[in-house]
Formats: sequence, structure tokens, C-alpha cells
Amino acid sequence: MKFLKQITNYAKEAVQSAKYIGQGLSVTFDHMRRRPITVQYPYEKLIPSERFRGRIHFEFDKCIACEVCVRVCPINLPVVDWVFNKEIKKKELKHYSIDFGVCIFCANCVEYCPTNCLSVTEEYELATYDRHELNYDNVAMGRIPYKVTQDPMVTPIREFAYLPAGVMSGHDLPAGAQRAGEHPEAIANPTESSESSEN
Ligand code: SF4
Ligand code: SF4
Repeated sequence: MKFLKQITNYAKEAVQSAKYIGQGLSVTFDHMRRRPITVQYPYEKLIPSERFRGRIHFEFDKCIACEVCVRVCPINLPVVDWVFNKEIKKKELKHYSIDFGVCIFCANCVEYCPTNCLSVTEEYELATYDRHELNYDNVAMGRIPYKVTQDPMVTPIREFAYLPAGVMSGHDLPAGAQRAGEHPEAIANPTESSESSEN
């Protein structure tokens, strides 16, 4: 009886192993039918998704030096350098800076800024040889944001979120190919989107 039990267990394990090998190979064979989706960076670049949080843009003239951005930042990162102007009884902004070598790009500062002088851009290529260069002052932060779709040297490739249903690669897509699902603004305002589609 003991011998028979051992044989049964062995057979069960052999069937189980064959099943797992089959599952693994099915993934391999499935990928053999697909084209490579390698993006030839830096000649090709993926278009970041709508809610991507990249380098922060700053508008000096809008800032009222309230320091809300500092208080809501998890690491109190923004440096707001201001003086009090006794004549007009208002704060005057002198310098503003954020060290993007330390920033975690949570965008809390952008969300809470009362004058909307901060905004997130889709710029993500911030690499430097010296980390001190990542400490952006108000001039560097005021630079017009970089856009993949407006760079004549780059072929923009649609990333996964922009592809039609069932399409895995943004290469060789017909120009009018519609993305799967709705745009974020349509999701945020479902009544407006249904009204516009009825018109
Ligand atoms: S929250 Fe906005 S307005 Fe206030 S100091 Fe920060 S950037 Fe300036
Ligand atoms: S993005 Fe987040 S971590 Fe960076 S400065 Fe703003 S609040 Fe601080």
C-alpha cells in the first residue's frame, strides 16, 4: 500500500509540474507573436500621461510669499525668500527655489498654492552630473516646460494609456487611431462630456 501511495503522489506531482511548464511556455509563445515595443530613446520618446507629475513650473509674479507650499510639503522643501515692505504693508518675494534632487514630486505644493503659481509639467529629463544643479531657483523653474510632442528632433510615441484597445505598441499607429477609454476631463465631468457628445 505504501508503495502504491508513493506512485500516486509521484504521478500527481509530475502532472502538476507539466501543467506549470505548459503555463510558462504559453506566455513565451504568446510573446513570440508580438512585435518588440522598444522605444529608441532619445530619438523616440513616450508622451507622458495627462496626470504625470514632472518638474514644477513657477510663476514669480503670481507668488504672494504666503509659504503655504512650505507647510504642505512633506519635507518643507520650497525655499521662499521674502522681505516685508513697510510702505505697502505686504511681503515682497525675493527668491524662490525647490531642490529637485530632494523633491518627491508629490505635487502637494501645486495643489495647495492659493494663487496657482505652481504647476506640474511633463518634463522628466532632469539628470545632471552634479546634484547641486538640481536646486532650481525661480528663473530655472520659470522656464517654459518641455513637451515631447513639440520637439522637432524627437518622434513622439504614444504610451500604453493612449493606445486603442488591444494595441500593445505605439509604433506605426494610424494618425486617427482613438485611445481606449475616456479622457480624464470626460471622467471628471461626465455630464459635460455626454452633453457634448449629444450635440
Ligand atoms: S503657496 Fe504659492 S503663493 Fe504661497 S509662497 Fe508658495 S508658491 Fe508662493
Ligand atoms: S512636489 Fe511635494 S516634495 Fe516636491 S516641493 Fe512640492 S510638496 Fe514638496
